[in-house]
Amino acid sequence: MLIVQKYGGTSVGSAERIKEVAKRVAATHDAGRQVAVVVSAMSGETNRLLGLARQIAAHPDERESDVLVSTGEQVTVALLAMALKELGYPAFSLLGHQVQIATDSAFGRARIKHIKADRLLSALREGHIVVVAGFQGVDAEDNITTLGRGGSDTTAVAIAAAAKADVCEIYTDVDGVYSADPRICPHARKLSRISYDEMLELASLGTKVLQIRSVEFAKRYQVPVHVRSSFSAEEGTWLVPEDPSMEDVIVSGVTSDLDQAKITLLHVPDRPGLAAKLFSPIAEDNVVVDMIIQNASADGFTDLTFTVPKGDASKALAHVKAAAPEIGAAGVAFDADVAKVSIVGLGMRSHAGVAARMFQTLAREGINIQMISTSEIKISVVIDAKYTELAVRVLHDALISPAQ
Ligand code: ASP
Ligand code: MG
Repeated sequence: MLIVQKYGGTSVGSAERIKEVAKRVAATHDAGRQVAVVVSAMSGETNRLLGLARQIAAHPDERESDVLVSTGEQVTVALLAMALKELGYPAFSLLGHQVQIATDSAFGRARIKHIKADRLLSALREGHIVVVAGFQGVDAEDNITTLGRGGSDTTAVAIAAAAKADVCEIYTDVDGVYSADPRICPHARKLSRISYDEMLELASLGTKVLQIRSVEFAKRYQVPVHVRSSFSAEEGTWLVPEDPSMEDVIVSGVTSDLDQAKITLLHVPDRPGLAAKLFSPIAEDNVVVDMIIQNASADGFTDLTFTVPKGDASKALAHVKAAAPEIGAAGVAFDADVAKVSIVGLGMRSHAGVAARMFQTLAREGINIQMISTSEIKISVVIDAKYTELAVRVLHDALISPAQ
């Protein structure tokens, strides 16, 4: 049996913690398993390095930025391999390019293209514990790349897929995936299992337990992923392929995302080509537009509203203001005090009336819905940011588990 274990930043946040991780890895090895371990940088380290870069340059060179931030993981693989050797285990570290984790050249957000796991696999077969640096890869020109924030999750799942591991365990500082953020919602409960598709929705809608690309990998290669705490021995949440019984649960999770800003174009003439004219420059500037709403026009004019991540709002707004006169819009409105609150569940496919119950629940609290979007297994609403926590709580209690 082959296990890939990934330990996040808080799990390797100090020398003491690294020694604890070494003991857990050693115990897995003692149980007769082959173990590959993927680690993140010590908590806070990636931010510290990015901060240093910003003291040198307002927009640090992207290639050099990856050379810099990848050092965080180089430190932890070395320390963990040392700790395992201290305990008497045959361990050694491999960096991304040594594995080899081949990526494209999009510095700071590179995508894994393939993994040549021969060296890793033969070392595992010989009984070694291999400690792999998360977050980093190498492009076709031998440049160091990184996979985006939280990218060690993706390294771990990709390694598990390439090595055909039996399970990928993600050790973190929470003990699993919850039906809502327990800090907001006292009745939130730990999910014992969740389908890849539900987790994909939750991850993209604001639940920060796993990097979304890691879930995409898990789904594509059907890797069972076990998200659990490195601070306890308890079972966490299993990410697994869907089975029919999962549709019995109508709503699995409620999540919120405050990283939203809303832009509205008022009184836009309803003519072909205007949306294309508006959104093309925004797309060319690499801004990801989330929800878009356009009304049916009554008198040949319509309003058009969309949301973007807060960090991209000023870029998007500049494009909209430039396009507005050309398009013939009467004006532009902007609101950054909004949140997206979403419910997710496979059961929505087969159960009617979930949206109505969601809207009734919000109405009872006097929460106004500004935008709505749906997919097969989720419903999202945009509301005033100040009601975010209330909305999550009441939706959780109404649709998942009632207050005791
Ligand atoms: N160290 C990187 C980060 O902080 C990657 C990771 O921890 O997954 O984003
Ligand atoms: Mg993480």
